[in-house]
Amino acid sequence: MKKVKFATLAVVALALVFALVSPVMATGGLTGVKITVDPGHGGSDPGAVGPTGLTEKAVNLRVGTVLKNCLVEYGYATVQMTRTTDVDVSLADRVALANNWGANRFISVHHNASTDPSVNGTETYAYYYGSSASFDLRDKVHARLLAGMGLPNRGALTAGFYVLKYTNMPAILTEASFISNPYEEARLKDAGYTWREGYYIYQGVADHYGVAP
Ligand SMILES: [Zn+2]
Repeated sequence: MKKVKFATLAVVALALVFALVSPVMATGGLTGVKITVDPGHGGSDPGAVGPTGLTEKAVNLRVGTVLKNCLVEYGYATVQMTRTTDVDVSLADRVALANNWGANRFISVHHNASTDPSVNGTETYAYYYGSSASFDLRDKVHARLLAGMGLPNRGALTAGFYVLKYTNMPAILTEASFISNPYEEARLKDAGYTWREGYYIYQGVADHYGVAP
């Protein structure tokens, strides 16, 4: 009898610990946070095109959709997409969507290209005159992309990209890898590979907010 009672107590205590800890430690840490996810290019604008014809717009949409799903399903964030299909959306419209909605953060997903097919690596951008929050988000996402993808570090950088300049909230732009590299293009065709990229960006967002992914 004594043993059973102790076991019951232990189970109750464990359940209590989980109930107290899990909302912070496991999921839901981004509840109430509004994030705009912007898959670059689309429609008549393919963005960069890989050596066998894979388009940046398609890869950006795949990664952006994964990022949205992770933010919603793991973080319980509220997410706005600037596009969910292969359509033209102007840069001004992308910015207006986020500004009018009052997004807390803006994340534009792109992939890089070079005339030198051997080039590969990860770059993450914030605006030249961005807020410290934008630099922190950039650095956290960049660190997760580097750790997860294992590609050369080309830097956490600043730029004057339209969507970074005209958004009212902290904004970043990811260039996780080079679609112009034939080996990278082959990997980017794999849905598992692009899922992981979206998840790494999500992990960076969680780090930025100080919550466990
Ligand atoms: Zn692009």
